[in-house]
Amino acid sequence: MLTTIHNASELTEIILDYRKKGLKIGFVPTMGALHKGHLHLVKMSKNENDITIVSIFVNPTQFNDPRDLEKYPRTLSKDQELLQSTASADILYAPDVDDIYPDGIQSGSDIGLGGLDVMMEGSHRPGHFNGVAQVVNRLLEIVKPDNLYMGQKDFQQFTIINYMLKSLSIPTKLRVCPIVREDNGLAMSSRNVRLSPEVRTNASIIFKTLKAVKQKSRILDIESLKQYAIKRLDKPPFKPEYFDIVDGNTLLPVDNLDNHGYIVACTAVWVEGVRLIDNMVLKSDL
Ligand code: AMP
Repeated sequence: MLTTIHNASELTEIILDYRKKGLKIGFVPTMGALHKGHLHLVKMSKNENDITIVSIFVNPTQFNDPRDLEKYPRTLSKDQELLQSTASADILYAPDVDDIYPDGIQSGSDIGLGGLDVMMEGSHRPGHFNGVAQVVNRLLEIVKPDNLYMGQKDFQQFTIINYMLKSLSIPTKLRVCPIVREDNGLAMSSRNVRLSPEVRTNASIIFKTLKAVKQKSRILDIESLKQYAIKRLDKPPFKPEYFDIVDGNTLLPVDNLDNHGYIVACTAVWVEGVRLIDNMVLKSDL
């Protein structure tokens, strides 16, 4: 039975009780408008913990574009229904802004992110990762989970949060869930509902390009791979913002595939005023 809580102090009391009982807690932070990608994270948490807590909070400090914040879909009662019937989560924490930021919204945070926040998404969305780190840190302060569940879809985000966990010595373990895709390969995203049906279908080009890049990475050099990808993605109404091939640990661009053990291709593509991100691991020795 799903319990919805809007208040941090109420949630803290319940969590204290779980702790006394020695229960293991898994936590899935989201911004709501839940889809199968989110539900997969919940499923992973259910499998690995006694209690699964999901949060829904559209965090204003991570939106660098006020229009995106305004247009972000908010579907709380549908989300509650999904969490209750499909995912069987235990607790939904749906705070309002004052509960998360009792001292008022301060843009950014002073949490050091080791420079991982300035490239790719960071260079196109200034302040975004500071906002993400700020909210995740606050949520972890409240929930204190054993395990935290995040998606490979936001590759740079989970890399940064992993860095934050280590640098702040937060004892929570990060677990990463593979990208859940629509039938045509488009990575599921809460923003996909803003696409017209035709564009949503044609947006499969992003996944197809990533797959082709992975295939061609055996024969082409990095520069040729990037040029190939940009050319393939740059077909109106699609407009690629970047296509980068980076070291999976440092997020720095790689110039030779042979010199790195973990390599990820990452992209952001604009279409119909929506920014779609996706990525694919090209190589992993892990
Ligand atoms: P969001 O609600 O977009 O902030 O996402 C909440 C969490 O769900 C993040 O850790 C995302 O990486 C993850 N997520 C979003 N979309 C997907 C997807 N298609 N597959 C797997 N995880 C996802």
